[in-house]
Amino acid sequence: MPTTYEASLAFAQSLDQVDVFYPFRERFLFPQHNGKDVHYFCGNSLGLQPKSVGYLMDMELADWAEHGVEGHFRARNPWLSYHKLFSERLSKIVGAKPTEVVAANTLTVNLHLLMISFYRPTQTRYKIIMEAGAFPSDQYAMETQAMMHGFDPNDAIIELTPRTGEYILREEDILKVIEDAGDSLAVIMMGGVNYYTGQLFNMKKITEVAHRVGAYVGFDLAHAVGNVPLHLHDWNVDFACWCSYKYLNSGPGGVGGIFVNEHHASNQKVFRLAGWWGNDEATRFKMQKGFVPTKTAESWQMSNAPVFNMVAHHASLDIYDKTSVSALREKSEELTGYCTFLLNQLTNLPFTIITPSNPNERGCQLSLLFHEKGKEIFDKLSQNGVIADWREPNVIRIAPVPLYNTFEDVYRFYEILKTC
Ligand SMILES: *Cc1c(COP(=O)(O)O)cnc(C)c1O
Repeated sequence: MPTTYEASLAFAQSLDQVDVFYPFRERFLFPQHNGKDVHYFCGNSLGLQPKSVGYLMDMELADWAEHGVEGHFRARNPWLSYHKLFSERLSKIVGAKPTEVVAANTLTVNLHLLMISFYRPTQTRYKIIMEAGAFPSDQYAMETQAMMHGFDPNDAIIELTPRTGEYILREEDILKVIEDAGDSLAVIMMGGVNYYTGQLFNMKKITEVAHRVGAYVGFDLAHAVGNVPLHLHDWNVDFACWCSYKYLNSGPGGVGGIFVNEHHASNQKVFRLAGWWGNDEATRFKMQKGFVPTKTAESWQMSNAPVFNMVAHHASLDIYDKTSVSALREKSEELTGYCTFLLNQLTNLPFTIITPSNPNERGCQLSLLFHEKGKEIFDKLSQNGVIADWREPNVIRIAPVPLYNTFEDVYRFYEILKTC
C-alpha cells in the first residue's frame, strides 16, 4: 500500500484493485439511492445485512416447522447449544479463550449483570471511573448501579474529562485520575473506543494501572469489537461486554456478548445473578434448587439461546471466519488514512476532525465537529447518497468499514462533501 495519497477517482480505484477485501463487499446488501448502492458509512451504528441471513433464517423457520420442540436436538444447528456456535469465533475477535466469552442478552443488560458481579462497593472503596459524556445507556447504568448500593452518583462516579479546549483524553491524565482515586476506586467501566470521538484507549495500560490500585476493570466494547484488534485475556481485563449490530453486522438489537476473565469465571464464589442456562450443564436439567454456576463465561447467560436473534450473528461471523481482525485492521488504517488525507484537502469547510490523528489511537471512525452549518451539510450528504451519522449538537461521524467500504466510497464521499 502506498504512503502518498492522491485526491483522484483513478487513484482510489487503483487501491480497490489491489484490495484483498474488495470481494467481501459482495457478501452484503446495500441500501439503494437512485438505483445505486449508497455510500454507507454507518457501520459503527448498524452494520449492513450479510446476504446469507435470509437463507439461514428460512432454515431455522423450516426446522421449527418440521421438528417443533425436538429442534433443540434435531435442528441442523441444534438450538440447545446454539450459543456455542459463537464462542470460538468471538474469542478470536476479542482475544480471549472460548470459555471466557458467551453470546447472550444485550449490551446494557450485560453491563448491569457484570457490574453486579464486579461492583461490590464498601464504605471506603466505592468509586467508579468512566468517560464524561459516555453513551447515555452507560451513564444511566452506572448511575443506577451506584444508587442500588446507596451511593450518590455524583459522589461515586468519577468522570474522565478532556483538558479545557481539547476534545480527546490524554493517556497520562487517565492514568493520573486512576492513581489519584487509589484505594477509593472500585471499578473502571469505560469504552474501549469512545462512541463520540472515536478515540481508542490504551486498555492494556489502563488495566495495569487500575490493578495496581486494587480496582477491577471492565470495558464497553460496542465501538471496538470487530473494529480494532483486542487481547482481553493477555491484557488481563476483568470483564467486558459489547453489542453485535455495529461492526459485527448482526442486525438491529442483535444478541450481545460477554467476556469474563477465566480467573473470575472459574471461581464459583464470584457472585452472578443466576438463570438456568448459567447452571452447570451436568445438573441443568435436574430441575433442583441450588444454583451451581458453570466455570465459564456462560454462567452469565440467563436464558436459553434466542435463536432468531442470533441467526444474523451466525451469518456475520461466518464472514469474519474468512479473515481476521488484524488483516482487517491493516486495510482499515489505509482506508481511514485515505479519508483523513482527503478531508484535510477541504480547508474551506468549517469542521475539525476531533478523532485522534494517530492511527494507534483510533479505529476506523472519524468524527467531524462542525463549527457551523453541520446539520445543513449532513442533510445534503444524505440527499446525495451518503449515509453518515449525525450526533447532537454538531458532529458528523463517518465510519469507513474495511469489510465492505471501498476507497472509491471514500473518494465519492469527499467529492460530494466538497460541493456541500
Ligand atoms: C451502541 C451502544 C450501546 C447500546 O446499548 P444496547 O443495550 O445495545 O441498546 C450502549 N453503549 C455504547 C457505548 C454503545 O456504543
